[in-house]
Amino acid sequence: MSELAYPYEVPASQALFDRAAAVTPGGVNSPVRAFRAVGGTPRFMVSGTGPYLTDADGREYVDLVCSWGPMILGHAHPEVIAAVQDAVARGTSFGTPAEGEVALAEAMVERVAPLEQVRLVSSGTEATMSAIRLARGFTRRTKVIKFAGCYHGHVDSLLAAAGSGVATFALPDTPGVTGAQASDTIVLPYNDLEAVHAAFAAHPGEIACVITEASPGNMGVVPPLPGYNQGLKDACAAGGALFVSDEVMTGFRTSRAGWYGVEGVVPDLMTFGKVMGGGFPAAAFGGRADVMAHLAPAGPVYQAGTLSGNPVATAAGLAQLRLLDDAAYDTVNAVSARIQSLVTEALAKEGVAHTLQSASNMFSVFFTDRPVTNYDEARAQDSFRFTAFFHSLLANGVYLPPSSFESWFVSTAHDERAVQRIADALPAAARAAAEAKA
Ligand SMILES: *Cc1c(COP(=O)(O)O)cnc(C)c1O
Repeated sequence: MSELAYPYEVPASQALFDRAAAVTPGGVNSPVRAFRAVGGTPRFMVSGTGPYLTDADGREYVDLVCSWGPMILGHAHPEVIAAVQDAVARGTSFGTPAEGEVALAEAMVERVAPLEQVRLVSSGTEATMSAIRLARGFTRRTKVIKFAGCYHGHVDSLLAAAGSGVATFALPDTPGVTGAQASDTIVLPYNDLEAVHAAFAAHPGEIACVITEASPGNMGVVPPLPGYNQGLKDACAAGGALFVSDEVMTGFRTSRAGWYGVEGVVPDLMTFGKVMGGGFPAAAFGGRADVMAHLAPAGPVYQAGTLSGNPVATAAGLAQLRLLDDAAYDTVNAVSARIQSLVTEALAKEGVAHTLQSASNMFSVFFTDRPVTNYDEARAQDSFRFTAFFHSLLANGVYLPPSSFESWFVSTAHDERAVQRIADALPAAARAAAEAKA
């Protein structure tokens, strides 16, 4: 930990963190927020507007996390806020069907061709958990193939070799997941079709599905090699398994139709979250109508939720999706490209070995000079350089994800002033990365 190298100048955040630690394990409600990988005091934010966040000490940051992806229009977008206020005024939960959830499902189905039917849930974790249950119920098989470094939420059976916070803390496994749950999960290296073919050959008639991030962003950004997703789809079709594409991060972010819109590989089932909730807890899984027909009450596979399709969350999500037209994606892609080139220029100028990888407007920097195609390669980077880079940017008002295993996110609200603040902060951060010691 590097607390000592970076003096606290955030007494209000520190006081809140101390209070939090007394009543909440580790002081946070989601592990990566605790800054353990980079050290120092997590910033407690009090407000967000456009590309900026303001912390409890009154410091303003250009936000390159965007709530880990959802805030693709920036914070407190006036039209999203108006839609939420309108919904809230009519009541916050009915426990009955309501029009908003139909409209959100229609908007999703209209954008993503392979999505014939969707079921709304409240988190990406629920979406992947339910998709796996449905795949098992549909195929009457037990085993699931996942890839090292891919994160699908904290579903018991999917926490093997997961990325994101699990990568940050280098937990090989987590206590509380049983041997039975883990043994039904086959973990393979990412971007390696041979390994997939070998697993199908070793477990004939046993594999219910292959689940993959459509383009992984939870071990840093590691896009699929050309033909990889199609190869997965073909292997599933040949082996009688379902191909489940987890678009919780990429959905409605990497294009109007998510990663499917970029690559065009047709999954059997897909999962969504993040952008589709407009900053509220809304997520979904869906896909082939004949598979979805197995879900209760239409079919025997049980799945439910008290707050599923919540009227406030669906209003926020629908407002956000309606604002995400082609021009919006052009804006996000352009600002992402600008920031990417500023980052590489600054690091190159200081001679810092790095590889910047992108998937549409998602990107991240690996502190290594080699391309990263899987989790082992991602872990081989010089993460200590990221720590120095992160804290220098933070001190100068730029908020990066507090881990070198996470994607960076931008929004339509990242304007010239925000980009200039990043450009101004980068030279010192690159120097700090160059001078960092392991
Ligand atoms: C964030 C994420 C999840 C989990 O979503 P939660 O809403 O945090 O439960 C699942 N899969 C992917 C690819 C994600 O990025």
